[in-house]
Amino acid sequence: DRELAMVQGALELRTKAVAEILTPLADCFLLRADALLDFATVSEILRSGYTRIPVYEGEARGNIVDLLFVKDLAFVDPDDCTPLRTVTRFYRRPLHRVFHDTRLDTLLEEFKKGKSHLAIVQRVNNEGEGDPFYEVMGIVTLEDVIEEIIKSE
Ligand code: ATP
Ligand code: ATP
Repeated sequence: DRELAMVQGALELRTKAVAEILTPLADCFLLRADALLDFATVSEILRSGYTRIPVYEGEARGNIVDLLFVKDLAFVDPDDCTPLRTVTRFYRRPLHRVFHDTRLDTLLEEFKKGKSHLAIVQRVNNEGEGDPFYEVMGIVTLEDVIEEIIKSE
Protein backbone atom coordinates (compact mmCIF):
# COMPACT_ATOMS: atom_id res chain seq x y z
CA ASP A 1 0.00 0.00 0.00
CA ARG A 2 0.95 3.65 -0.18
CA GLU A 3 2.27 3.94 3.36
CA LEU A 4 4.56 0.98 2.89
CA ALA A 5 5.72 2.45 -0.43
CA MET A 6 6.56 5.73 1.30
CA VAL A 7 8.54 3.98 4.02
CA GLN A 8 10.43 2.10 1.32
CA GLY A 9 11.00 5.34 -0.56
CA ALA A 10 12.36 6.94 2.60
CA LEU A 11 14.67 3.99 3.26
CA GLU A 12 15.96 4.17 -0.32
CA LEU A 13 17.21 7.70 0.29
CA ARG A 14 20.25 6.06 1.86
CA THR A 15 21.09 4.11 -1.28
CA LYS A 16 20.34 6.69 -3.98
CA ALA A 17 22.58 9.52 -5.04
CA VAL A 18 21.83 13.01 -6.27
CA ALA A 19 22.98 12.09 -9.80
CA GLU A 20 19.98 9.75 -10.15
CA ILE A 21 17.35 12.43 -9.56
CA LEU A 22 18.87 15.72 -10.73
CA THR A 23 17.46 17.88 -13.48
CA PRO A 24 20.20 17.88 -16.15
CA LEU A 25 21.82 21.19 -16.95
CA ALA A 26 20.53 21.01 -20.53
CA ASP A 27 16.94 20.96 -19.20
CA CYS A 28 17.45 23.79 -16.72
CA PHE A 29 15.88 27.17 -17.23
CA LEU A 30 18.74 29.59 -16.61
CA LEU A 31 19.43 33.26 -17.16
CA ARG A 32 22.58 34.90 -18.49
CA ALA A 33 24.22 37.19 -15.95
CA ASP A 34 24.22 40.03 -18.48
CA ALA A 35 20.50 39.75 -19.22
CA LEU A 36 18.30 42.84 -19.12
CA LEU A 37 15.00 42.55 -17.30
CA ASP A 38 12.96 43.91 -20.16
CA PHE A 39 9.41 42.87 -20.98
CA ALA A 40 10.48 39.87 -23.09
CA THR A 41 12.81 38.47 -20.43
CA VAL A 42 10.43 38.99 -17.52
CA SER A 43 7.63 37.34 -19.53
CA GLU A 44 9.86 34.38 -20.30
CA ILE A 45 10.75 34.02 -16.60
CA LEU A 46 7.10 34.09 -15.56
CA ARG A 47 6.13 31.66 -18.32
CA SER A 48 8.82 29.20 -17.20
CA GLY A 49 6.82 28.68 -14.00
CA TYR A 50 9.96 28.20 -11.89
CA THR A 51 10.49 29.92 -8.57
CA ARG A 52 14.31 29.80 -8.50
CA ILE A 53 16.43 30.48 -11.54
CA PRO A 54 20.18 29.92 -11.62
CA VAL A 55 22.23 32.61 -13.35
CA TYR A 56 25.34 31.84 -15.41
CA GLU A 57 28.24 34.06 -16.38
CA GLY A 58 29.78 34.04 -19.86
CA GLU A 59 29.03 31.44 -22.52
CA ALA A 60 29.18 28.26 -20.44
CA ARG A 61 25.82 27.38 -18.89
CA GLY A 62 27.65 25.42 -16.21
CA ASN A 63 29.32 28.56 -14.89
CA ILE A 64 26.53 29.29 -12.43
CA VAL A 65 27.26 32.30 -10.26
CA ASP A 66 23.94 33.42 -8.81
CA LEU A 67 20.38 32.50 -8.09
CA LEU A 68 17.36 34.65 -8.90
CA PHE A 69 14.11 34.18 -7.00
CA VAL A 70 11.08 35.16 -9.03
CA LYS A 71 9.85 37.17 -6.04
CA ASP A 72 12.98 39.33 -6.42
CA LEU A 73 11.27 40.81 -9.49
CA ALA A 74 8.51 42.37 -7.40
CA PHE A 75 9.98 45.88 -7.61
CA VAL A 76 11.31 45.59 -11.13
CA ASP A 77 9.56 47.61 -13.82
CA PRO A 78 10.13 46.00 -17.24
CA ASP A 79 10.04 49.48 -18.80
CA ASP A 80 13.28 50.32 -16.95
CA CYS A 81 15.18 47.41 -18.57
CA THR A 82 17.01 46.86 -15.26
CA PRO A 83 20.16 44.75 -15.58
CA LEU A 84 19.70 41.36 -13.92
CA ARG A 85 23.00 42.02 -12.12
CA THR A 86 21.45 44.93 -10.23
CA VAL A 87 18.85 42.59 -8.77
CA THR A 88 21.18 39.67 -7.97
CA ARG A 89 23.67 42.05 -6.32
CA PHE A 90 20.91 43.46 -4.17
CA TYR A 91 19.48 40.16 -2.91
CA ARG A 92 22.66 38.01 -2.98
CA ARG A 93 20.83 34.71 -2.74
CA PRO A 94 23.19 32.04 -1.42
CA LEU A 95 24.11 29.32 -3.90
CA HIS A 96 24.52 25.80 -2.53
CA ARG A 97 26.53 23.12 -4.25
CA VAL A 98 26.50 19.38 -3.73
CA PHE A 99 28.49 16.58 -5.28
CA HIS A 100 26.75 14.20 -7.66
CA ASP A 101 27.47 11.23 -5.39
CA THR A 102 25.86 12.79 -2.30
CA ARG A 103 23.28 10.39 -0.83
CA LEU A 104 19.69 11.63 -0.81
CA ASP A 105 19.36 11.33 2.98
CA THR A 106 22.36 13.66 3.32
CA LEU A 107 20.87 16.07 0.78
CA LEU A 108 17.57 16.05 2.66
CA GLU A 109 19.43 16.94 5.88
CA GLU A 110 21.13 19.83 4.06
CA PHE A 111 17.80 21.12 2.78
CA LYS A 112 16.25 20.74 6.24
CA LYS A 113 19.02 22.82 7.78
CA GLY A 114 17.28 25.68 6.08
CA LYS A 115 18.41 28.28 3.59
CA SER A 116 17.70 27.23 0.03
CA HIS A 117 15.77 24.28 -1.34
CA LEU A 118 17.78 24.19 -4.55
CA ALA A 119 21.36 23.02 -4.98
CA ILE A 120 23.77 23.03 -7.90
CA VAL A 121 25.07 19.51 -8.58
CA GLN A 122 28.72 19.21 -9.50
CA ARG A 123 31.34 16.54 -10.01
CA VAL A 124 35.08 16.58 -10.30
CA ASN A 125 35.99 16.07 -13.96
CA ASN A 126 39.50 14.64 -14.27
CA GLU A 127 39.02 12.90 -17.60
CA GLY A 128 40.89 15.24 -19.93
CA GLU A 129 44.56 16.15 -20.25
CA GLY A 130 44.27 19.30 -18.21
CA ASP A 131 43.74 19.93 -14.53
CA PRO A 132 40.65 18.47 -12.87
CA PHE A 133 37.78 20.94 -12.67
CA TYR A 134 34.32 21.16 -11.15
CA GLU A 135 31.73 20.32 -13.76
CA VAL A 136 28.12 21.32 -13.15
CA MET A 137 25.76 18.44 -14.01
CA GLY A 138 22.45 20.06 -13.14
CA ILE A 139 20.25 21.15 -10.28
CA VAL A 140 18.34 19.35 -7.56
CA THR A 141 15.55 20.63 -5.34
CA LEU A 142 13.70 19.46 -2.24
CA GLU A 143 10.81 18.63 -4.54
CA ASP A 144 12.97 16.04 -6.34
CA VAL A 145 13.76 14.30 -3.02
CA ILE A 146 10.13 14.28 -1.90
CA GLU A 147 9.19 12.86 -5.28
CA GLU A 148 11.55 9.94 -4.61
CA ILE A 149 9.80 9.26 -1.31
CA ILE A 150 6.22 9.36 -2.51
CA LYS A 151 6.48 7.85 -6.01
CA SER A 152 8.28 4.73 -4.84
CA GLU A 153 6.57 1.37 -5.34
P1 ATP B 1 8.30 25.80 -5.84
O1 ATP B 1 7.51 24.52 -6.00
O2 ATP B 1 9.06 25.89 -4.55
O3 ATP B 1 7.52 27.04 -6.19
P2 ATP B 1 9.43 25.30 -8.46
O4 ATP B 1 8.08 24.85 -8.89
O5 ATP B 1 10.09 26.38 -9.23
O6 ATP B 1 9.47 25.72 -6.94
P3 ATP B 1 10.48 22.83 -7.50
O7 ATP B 1 9.12 22.52 -7.01
O8 ATP B 1 11.56 23.05 -6.51
O9 ATP B 1 10.43 24.10 -8.49
O10 ATP B 1 10.98 21.73 -8.50
C1 ATP B 1 10.11 21.11 -9.45
C2 ATP B 1 10.95 20.44 -10.53
O11 ATP B 1 11.49 21.47 -11.38
C3 ATP B 1 12.16 19.68 -9.98
O12 ATP B 1 12.35 18.53 -10.78
C4 ATP B 1 13.31 20.65 -10.15
O13 ATP B 1 14.54 19.98 -10.34
C5 ATP B 1 12.90 21.41 -11.39
N1 ATP B 1 13.38 22.80 -11.44
C6 ATP B 1 13.36 23.72 -10.46
N2 ATP B 1 13.87 24.91 -10.89
C7 ATP B 1 14.20 24.72 -12.20
C8 ATP B 1 14.76 25.54 -13.23
N3 ATP B 1 15.11 26.82 -13.00
N4 ATP B 1 14.96 24.99 -14.46
C9 ATP B 1 14.62 23.70 -14.70
N5 ATP B 1 14.10 22.87 -13.78
C10 ATP B 1 13.87 23.37 -12.54
P1 ATP C 1 34.43 28.83 -5.62
O1 ATP C 1 34.26 28.07 -6.89
O2 ATP C 1 34.54 30.31 -5.82
O3 ATP C 1 35.52 28.27 -4.72
P2 ATP C 1 32.55 27.51 -3.89
O4 ATP C 1 33.35 27.46 -2.63
O5 ATP C 1 31.07 27.66 -3.80
O6 ATP C 1 33.04 28.66 -4.85
P3 ATP C 1 33.81 25.03 -4.59
O7 ATP C 1 35.07 25.52 -4.02
O8 ATP C 1 33.81 24.37 -5.90
O9 ATP C 1 32.78 26.20 -4.75
O10 ATP C 1 33.15 24.06 -3.51
C1 ATP C 1 31.77 23.80 -3.48
C2 ATP C 1 31.45 23.03 -2.23
O11 ATP C 1 32.05 21.74 -2.27
C3 ATP C 1 32.00 23.68 -0.97
O12 ATP C 1 31.03 23.52 0.04
C4 ATP C 1 33.27 22.92 -0.65
O13 ATP C 1 33.51 22.87 0.73
C5 ATP C 1 32.90 21.54 -1.18
N1 ATP C 1 34.05 20.80 -1.67
C6 ATP C 1 35.04 21.22 -2.46
N2 ATP C 1 35.88 20.25 -2.76
C7 ATP C 1 35.44 19.11 -2.15
C8 ATP C 1 35.86 17.74 -2.10
N3 ATP C 1 36.96 17.29 -2.74
N4 ATP C 1 35.13 16.87 -1.37
C9 ATP C 1 34.03 17.28 -0.72
N5 ATP C 1 33.56 18.55 -0.74
C10 ATP C 1 34.25 19.47 -1.44
